[in-house]
Amino acid sequence: MRMNSHDVGLNPGELYEVSDIIKKLGANFVGIVTNGLLYLPGERVALGDTVEGITADEALDILRHSTAHLMAHAVKSLIRDAKLGIGPAIENGFYYDIYTKEKITEDTLQLVEGKMRELAEARLPVQRQVLSKDAAIELFSSLGETFKLELIDDIEGDEVSVYRQGDFVDLCRGPHVSNTAHIKHFKLLSISGAYWRGDENREQLTRIYGTAFWTDEDLREYLHNLEEAEKRDHRKIGRQLDLFSINEDIGPGLILWHPNGAIIRKEIEDYWRNVHLEKGYQFVYSPHVARTRLWEISGHLGFYKENMYPPMELENQTYLVKPMNCPFHVQIYKAKTRSYRELPLRFAELGTVYRFERSGVLHGLLRVRGFTQDDAHVFCTREQVEDEVTDIMELALDMYRLFGFENLKIELSVRDPMNKDKYVGEDDVWELAEKALENALKRAGKEYVVAEGEAKFYGPAIDIKVRDAIGRYWQGPTIQVDFNLPRRFGMKYTGKDGREHEPVMIHRALLGSLERFFALLIEQYSGWFPLWIAPEQIRIIPITEEQLGYAQEVADKLREFRIRMDDDTGSKLGYRIRQAQMDKVPYVLVIGAREVQEGLVAVRHGVKGDLGKMGVEELAKMLREEIRQRAHL
Ligand SMILES: [Zn+2]
Ligand SMILES: [Zn+2]
Repeated sequence: MRMNSHDVGLNPGELYEVSDIIKKLGANFVGIVTNGLLYLPGERVALGDTVEGITADEALDILRHSTAHLMAHAVKSLIRDAKLGIGPAIENGFYYDIYTKEKITEDTLQLVEGKMRELAEARLPVQRQVLSKDAAIELFSSLGETFKLELIDDIEGDEVSVYRQGDFVDLCRGPHVSNTAHIKHFKLLSISGAYWRGDENREQLTRIYGTAFWTDEDLREYLHNLEEAEKRDHRKIGRQLDLFSINEDIGPGLILWHPNGAIIRKEIEDYWRNVHLEKGYQFVYSPHVARTRLWEISGHLGFYKENMYPPMELENQTYLVKPMNCPFHVQIYKAKTRSYRELPLRFAELGTVYRFERSGVLHGLLRVRGFTQDDAHVFCTREQVEDEVTDIMELALDMYRLFGFENLKIELSVRDPMNKDKYVGEDDVWELAEKALENALKRAGKEYVVAEGEAKFYGPAIDIKVRDAIGRYWQGPTIQVDFNLPRRFGMKYTGKDGREHEPVMIHRALLGSLERFFALLIEQYSGWFPLWIAPEQIRIIPITEEQLGYAQEVADKLREFRIRMDDDTGSKLGYRIRQAQMDKVPYVLVIGAREVQEGLVAVRHGVKGDLGKMGVEELAKMLREEIRQRAHL
């Protein structure tokens, strides 16, 4: 927050060491902004009228936006006719949209990057200047920056600010680093096309993406992870391992699970069903379409319509494809009168839903149009909410731990206390539910942040993001309390007092969409699935045809232990071993004349390498144990 310098006990115009200013502002800041420029500890600054503490995230954004300016500066000095669009900081970096007559190519990026280094090393001071709109129009007209003129037109008020460094000037709100010398660790990454203002009737610009960090270490780590992410791309591995596909004749965003993918899904579903049974859930099934009426009662037609597919007419009634399972579970609850003795009721379903997503945003298994949720709804009394949420948290954390996700970001979404009338449900019930969620989080012993105003209108929620093997966060479990649907559907139970009460409803999806979770697993494991879900657990490779008989015996034995396997005969041995590695088969058995003689098999692990020789029975038991433990490779 920007403060008046006086108000924090500092004198405008005076010289200060930045760390002394930070001491006045608060401990969680890494720098300050004054006069529209970022200053870091170790620098001395002549303080302006206002001062603002800057967090690490904000500082990084400022650095990246400054790097975007530096890039534009470099492009302008290399390509005279270049015209600038916009150049914001984005998650993980920045971009700048630039118009040039001659096409910018990947090769151009090298030159631009070199020029950027030169300009950074020239240690150009960055200056902010406020101009009247007229002066700004004159300035940017003289530079031929026609896009900037359009931007100036859109700015309210009579003044605009510009930032200068050397002979470069850009229309900008700022803030920026105070000197180009701060920009040391950056990289230009890629280019794509972008229409000016996203309008396909307007000019096409080149969008140049890049990133920047404060340290070389951070930059290297990011670039390494970027490479890793590319290698792990679930679409690529999905093709390689024959896991799933998307077919144009079927339609975008609709997933075909191939046999290999289906094995993984089935194993996860079996596990999922078992743990839910243990936790007292009951399984239900519901249809894929329902009359428009249902969605009117649930309210989805009011606030969720743009995510739903258009209605279909049948015998003078209209039906809609379901985007959610909730109203069905509500109707199962309502199918008979309920007593407090039955609560909590926990209905679970691997429910397939369809939601409209624009074709432009569809992405492999991550953004799809049809998917299956590991959905469940808990109906309980107010007093039971805390215990229920505690159990759900425990189940969720266990489930993610199993797949190697220990790093979580937990958010507790509560009401905006200043805007209570935005939400349905009484005050005391909200307070009770928010408290219940908070207590459940405390009981789980996990750190979390409270996000005020982030609750849905119908109730507070817990949202968990999980960190994968290369540091990216993915949407994980969500637990939402709902005061709305019980009311809309007139849900009741008979209490101890013999009177009717309204149950609380908790929505929860732990894996989320099975499709998206599958993408996460593919990338998390880079295709090296743990043995218990690996589609092919063992590949048997007899060296010559003479070992085929023995190989068959080995296969039969392993099959008795329910090990999934395949064999590979024929081509050269080295090729077959490499192929097994490419197919990411956890175990490979090589069988030659000696193994036949000894009655053993030579075992090779895809990640750990050679494990030596062992008897088939011994191997089978070892694998069963690994499967039972659901261990990682
Ligand atoms: Zn700027
Ligand atoms: Zn629901």
